[in-house]
Amino acid sequence: MQFSDIPGLDELKKQLISAHKRGKVAHAQLFAGRQGTAVLPMALGYVSYIMCENKQDEDSCGTCPNCVRIKKLIHPDIHLHFPKISASESKYEKVLSEALPRFREFVVETPFGDLETWTRKYGQENKNLLISREDSRQMLKNVSMRSVEGGYKILLIWVPELMNPSSANAILKILEEPPEKTLYLLVSYNYDNLLATITSRTQLVNVPPNSMEEVKKYLEEKGLEPANGEQTAKLSEGKIGLATQIAEIGESHEYEDFQKWMLECWNKNLTGLVRRSEDFSKSGKANQKTTLNFAISLVRNAVIHASGQKPPVQSEAESAFIGKYSDKLGLERLEKVYALVNEAMIHLERNSNPRITHLNLSLDIIQVLNG
Ligand SMILES: [Zn+2]
Repeated sequence: MQFSDIPGLDELKKQLISAHKRGKVAHAQLFAGRQGTAVLPMALGYVSYIMCENKQDEDSCGTCPNCVRIKKLIHPDIHLHFPKISASESKYEKVLSEALPRFREFVVETPFGDLETWTRKYGQENKNLLISREDSRQMLKNVSMRSVEGGYKILLIWVPELMNPSSANAILKILEEPPEKTLYLLVSYNYDNLLATITSRTQLVNVPPNSMEEVKKYLEEKGLEPANGEQTAKLSEGKIGLATQIAEIGESHEYEDFQKWMLECWNKNLTGLVRRSEDFSKSGKANQKTTLNFAISLVRNAVIHASGQKPPVQSEAESAFIGKYSDKLGLERLEKVYALVNEAMIHLERNSNPRITHLNLSLDIIQVLNG
């Protein structure tokens, strides 16, 4: 990751470079911003710049041995710490050796990815991930070791708010008195949840969201031009990670469509619903099933959310959407809608008339929503 891989945010990049040129590199820095924005990419661009053997005016060179190894996250003096499943001391090495290659892949493939993306990549959706007591022991070990190549040694701690309090306390001392040429970069999405004793020992680097134009341009450059680029950029609120997810799964249209459908039911818009059932019937068997399956999975997750559990959502977009629906409709109505959509699916699979099935479903949902 280089600065040039991150669209915009030129002011911040310049500040980081200029601090380095003036020899004013704070030994502990807290990169903070919202999930899906350029917080982690910015920290990594900074790492590359600091370690680059052939620094350019506005960026690292991207081709020297250090840059190349940092791109793959395999530089021996860059130590990565990130949330993972907890392990006892004896199992720690094993857990780490399994998690680290996946974490590298996650960052290389989806540098703007959020915690959920990591949890999925890691294959631990049902576990609580954290930075454990064992991780903090590992950090202390990293700090006490000499730098392998004689230059800077960097500890990058991703999502430090998931450190358990005892590991957070354990690293206070090293934050306070770092050995020479040791840098701590904390990459946080919610630094209010960090211990004040930690934040007070770090210099805050605020990473703002990207502009809508920058998000749009980024998607275009990655060949991810969603049907409605403008809309995707807007929905993403400047979070490139979120925009990429929406563009890749093409969900924005499905969400929008589902939302419109529910609104038509809510408002008892019969003209709209009749037209919708006709469109549904013309869309072909495969699309009909996809539409209902999408509704089933969304409503199921909303039911789970409404009953106070954590649904296995696929993206931040979905999570926001589900939160909104479960609050608005409440558990009881959601359960009824869920049963109705499932029933419609069964009818459809038994070759019922799709137009009538869909219209009946809408009419039943009207009853539930207005009941
Ligand atoms: Zn370089």
